[in-house]
Amino acid sequence: MSENWGFDTTAIHAGSAPDPATGARQVPIYQTTAYVFQDAGHAARLFGLQEVGYIYSRLTNPTIAALQARVAELEGGAGAVCCSSGHAAQIMALFPLMGPGKNLIASTRLYGGTVTQFSQTIKRFGWSCKFVDLDDPQALRAAVDEDTRAIFCESISNPGGYPTDIPAIAKVADEVGLPLIVDNTLATPWICKPIEMGATLVVHSLTKYMTGNGTVMGGAIVDSGRFDWSASDKFPSLSQPEPAYHGLNFHKTFGTLAFTFHGIAIGLRDLGMTMNPQAAHYTLMGIETLGLRMARHVENAQKVAEWLENDPRVTSVSYAGLASSPWNATVQRVYPKGAGALFSFGIRGGYDAAVKLVDSLKLFSHVANLGDARSLVIHSASTTHSQLTDEQKIAAGAGPDVVRLSIGIEDAADIIADLDQALAAATA
Ligand SMILES: *Cc1c(COP(=O)(O)O)cnc(C)c1O
Repeated sequence: MSENWGFDTTAIHAGSAPDPATGARQVPIYQTTAYVFQDAGHAARLFGLQEVGYIYSRLTNPTIAALQARVAELEGGAGAVCCSSGHAAQIMALFPLMGPGKNLIASTRLYGGTVTQFSQTIKRFGWSCKFVDLDDPQALRAAVDEDTRAIFCESISNPGGYPTDIPAIAKVADEVGLPLIVDNTLATPWICKPIEMGATLVVHSLTKYMTGNGTVMGGAIVDSGRFDWSASDKFPSLSQPEPAYHGLNFHKTFGTLAFTFHGIAIGLRDLGMTMNPQAAHYTLMGIETLGLRMARHVENAQKVAEWLENDPRVTSVSYAGLASSPWNATVQRVYPKGAGALFSFGIRGGYDAAVKLVDSLKLFSHVANLGDARSLVIHSASTTHSQLTDEQKIAAGAGPDVVRLSIGIEDAADIIADLDQALAAATA
């Protein structure tokens, strides 16, 4: 489909063609639950996966299919499955790989909700997670055991904006024969394409930059199509007859699309974490301007971080795009388009000053979100990361004096002026 398009052309055109029924140029919102079968034979072939088509919108829907094709194309994957949220995407990505008694290894630097999902909630499924500092490939190698089924990291991590050395981690994943799952929410494919760096699967919270204006929830799982699920007996749901689909062998039947078909035929069918077509429509429109927005987000973040770094009321700035950052070399090497637009900074005066700062900002919105066109702020320690232990908070870059910023695409001068007046109020 791609005809070797560049990023911006792909962001506008991939997955969409004029509607065959009406000629509608935008992707219509197919607001329907079910689809009329041509005849009984057609229905049987669809249910038997001998023919691909639409049955019921818990599994497939044309608006969502357009989004899936676009996200897969932007990430350079073989296929993608969209679902109801970023957190749903994480469960959907792990579901075919894991089982009772199995574990995954995840980075210590993750979105707070993901730390909770992996350290607590997945235990109910009999799964567990080992958290490892992935800046140390040796520690990663040492943590792998015979029950490990996946390695998970964020490309640029929440809330500190730290860049992960994906090629180094992919190399270890390859050596130990495990799939690498990369959450590319903060970087987006405009900054980095994890599959090109060796990732097996990419997950997204489409809720953030991909949609870009804080309107709808969504998630996606993109499959590289490159992992050999049959190389070991570790992934029976993909490589052996799957009892949940009358003994179908997904890898043998669908090859590079095994994970994608499994995600629809079993993941969406049985877990039901389905995206709605209205959300897919908003996200498709958002993605049209992803390249323009990300360039501006990154440019603004760099300016704001440099301004903060030179302010005596500020104790630290985590932005990896700063020349002074210990992560700047990784940014230059792995993320040459920039370090994203989410970072945190420490304020003189600790917890109280941080809270006062948040309450004094006017242009910034105090919300539990990121990746909006608007600049956003949150005090992670008392909100998104409040469920974590003090040790986990500090490891995640969410200490008591730390404020997280999601820099929007407004005029940089206005963003800086707002921070200036709020810093004055908070440290008075
Ligand atoms: C927001 C976020 C998630 C969770 O996504 P939802 O759409 O809120 O479920 C996962 N990972 C990262 C990095 C996020 O920022």
